[in-house]
Amino acid sequence: MAVRSAQTAGVQRIALDGRDVAYTLMRRPRKTIGLAIDHRGLRVSAPLRASLGEVEALLAQHSGWVLKKLEVWRSAANTQALTINTGTLLPWLGGEVQLILASGRNQFFWSGDGQSLTLALASGRSPAVLLVRALKERAGDLLYARLAHYAKQMGVPVPNLALSSARTRWGSCSCRGTIRLNWRLGHFPLPVIDYVVVHELAHLKEMNHSPRFWAVVEQLCPEWRQRRLELRQLARQMPVLRA
Ligand SMILES: [Zn+2]
Repeated sequence: MAVRSAQTAGVQRIALDGRDVAYTLMRRPRKTIGLAIDHRGLRVSAPLRASLGEVEALLAQHSGWVLKKLEVWRSAANTQALTINTGTLLPWLGGEVQLILASGRNQFFWSGDGQSLTLALASGRSPAVLLVRALKERAGDLLYARLAHYAKQMGVPVPNLALSSARTRWGSCSCRGTIRLNWRLGHFPLPVIDYVVVHELAHLKEMNHSPRFWAVVEQLCPEWRQRRLELRQLARQMPVLRA
């Protein structure tokens, strides 16, 4: 077995209660291992001679605390990123949508070029609720069109589409042939969206992630490896809208 250097430092990963957690490990001239969560995420200060095993054991021992704090940290980071105002820019299809707040009958209007979205709010109504409604509808139209496009290319009937809004799950495919796609995919560039669409469609042929499955994906999305990577990176910076 390889000796895990006592000097290990930098970004590390650990599975805590089945979740992949990244943390920054710092070496300090100190006697005990310290855990802290600040605006940069989870940070661990360890004595110079502490082994990675000792650090991991401590993290595992405090996994409940760590996961709870990280959850709070994530939602704080997200609310900070999101103030719904006139002028707010929202990532959308690889570009940005500018929001305009106005008063009205709680309706929304897209500009012809799709680059601005007016939320005409009735008094006392939440801009977040209306915004999510607008984005969901917009994403739904697009996702359906992409699904129909690729289903045709794959030679399968266009499946039913259901929209989901989970935080980390982008799509799924049921054995009955309904495909669920996350409306938040609208925040990403089209090639990334297409990868997710193709991925779920490919499950209509292969209900697994076998080499045969990836061969189906590759036919319609030869750059799937790159797209999958981009999806993971983009997901981390995605604004999370709650309504
Ligand atoms: Zn899959």
